[in-house]
Amino acid sequence: MSLRPTVDFLLHDWLGVESLRERERFADHSRETFDAVLDTCERIAREKYAPFNRLVDTQEPHFDGEKVILPQATHDAQKAYAESGMLSAAQDYEIGGMQLPYTVEAAANAFFAMASVSIGSGMLTTGNANLLMAHGTDTQKRVFALNEFGGRWSGTMCLSEPQAGSSLSDVATRALPDGDDFMDDPLGPRFRLKGNKMWISAGEHELTENIIHLVLAKIPGPDGKLPPGVKGISLFIVPKKLVNTEAELTGERNDVALAGLNHKCGWRGTTNTLLNFGEGKFPVRGAAGAVGYLVGNPGEGLRCMFHMMNEARIGVGMAATMLGMAGYHASLAYAKDRPQGRPVGPEGKDPSRPQSRIIEHADVKRMLLAQKSYCEGALALELYCARLVDEQHTGAADAANEARLLLEVLTPIAKSWPSEWCLEANSLGHSASTAAMATRATFRSSSTGATTA
Ligand SMILES: Cc1cc2nc3c(=O)[nH]c(=O)nc-3n(C[C@H](O)[C@H](O)[C@H](O)COP(=O)(O)OP(=O)(O)OC[C@H]3O[C@@H](n4cnc5c(N)ncnc54)[C@H](O)[C@@H]3O)c2cc1C
Repeated sequence: MSLRPTVDFLLHDWLGVESLRERERFADHSRETFDAVLDTCERIAREKYAPFNRLVDTQEPHFDGEKVILPQATHDAQKAYAESGMLSAAQDYEIGGMQLPYTVEAAANAFFAMASVSIGSGMLTTGNANLLMAHGTDTQKRVFALNEFGGRWSGTMCLSEPQAGSSLSDVATRALPDGDDFMDDPLGPRFRLKGNKMWISAGEHELTENIIHLVLAKIPGPDGKLPPGVKGISLFIVPKKLVNTEAELTGERNDVALAGLNHKCGWRGTTNTLLNFGEGKFPVRGAAGAVGYLVGNPGEGLRCMFHMMNEARIGVGMAATMLGMAGYHASLAYAKDRPQGRPVGPEGKDPSRPQSRIIEHADVKRMLLAQKSYCEGALALELYCARLVDEQHTGAADAANEARLLLEVLTPIAKSWPSEWCLEANSLGHSASTAAMATRATFRSSSTGATTA
């Protein structure tokens, strides 16, 4: 069974994505170009992601004291993804993009999430670069964002700290001006950062030449104290390896050190890290402190970061959706194949009849239909939100504003609803596939007088 007919139905019959071609930005596109993108992503997901989903779960990332080691399959998958052009799919032609509607981009990314959400594609890198395109200076866009879109460098988002998870107003990472000429750096006002960032996805690896961290930190006031609340938070670009304005590595390692890899129950193909910024493990120009370049104005860091977090929320919702969808497809295949038991007719069960496939039992059918409804409904919600993003960016003023308001309501739901209900779908899938075993266990228990089922 293939996901493609569902995606095609949602994109074309329901969302009418081809009507976007009437807009100047998408005028060069056609059903054929949209299909070609989906075909390519479906093929890469099938060849480079799906066969290694189990492997990346069993070969967890590990640190050899110098480098983080990931399976070769992860390197190959991410290289294929970057070479497909998907990291910059929605960007302008002038910077190497395809000017693809976000709706089609999101649909194409669904194939990777279904094949192996664990390997991941480029959600954080694209989100990081998109944020810089919205809030960075021209030099920051050229040096950092363009090299992320090209797949040469990857990106992270560094918000959380050991004491600041949900409560970002408690961020304690400090950023101090770096020297008297700190305002004159062509990469942006230059600061030195000190602090710890916890739970940072893709915070350390060797998949790309450099890692561009976007870090929330506070600039102390004249009294040396950090400003309270979220309004005191600023945003900084902190590259793992320092670069010049021509985007060449200078050969200096920035003072960002891996304190440890977090062990995860799932999604183990992507590292999750505790990073120490500015502890002095890699002093820069003789001093401790990670070099960071201010993005936007001081105190506006969280507002800028939300640009990335909203995309990340739709991406996380899509990932949860496709985890459920993968479970539904596996359950369906199993239920069509597994013979067990017999239907109850007017005369009861006829043991002389051949066994039926479990999909024919009403309760299994009920669970499969619930899985299908949750997962296909969630995919519809994600793609509807993606269509609203296109409306917000390219629609007429009134429609764009309405889409923006609707997204404010729907984006948190697009993240949280599939995270809850597609997990429930997988629980149902588990119930359906273990029903036969459970039935046998019940029989054994009751025959010995035990009451467990
Ligand atoms: C797999 C994974 C990847 C991650 N990747 C990143 C990343 O790349 N970058 C990054 O910055 N962070 C990342 N995070 C961190 C994530 O954003 C935090 O886990 C999140 O902000 C919650 O913080 P916490 O885990 O410290 O939970 P806490 O804030 O301690 O919350 C614990 C519980 O208390 C509840 N709670 C907290 N405050 C309140 C309140 N005021 N009212 C009601 N309930 C409340 C929460 O809902 C939660 O159920 C990642 C986390 C995970 C699990």
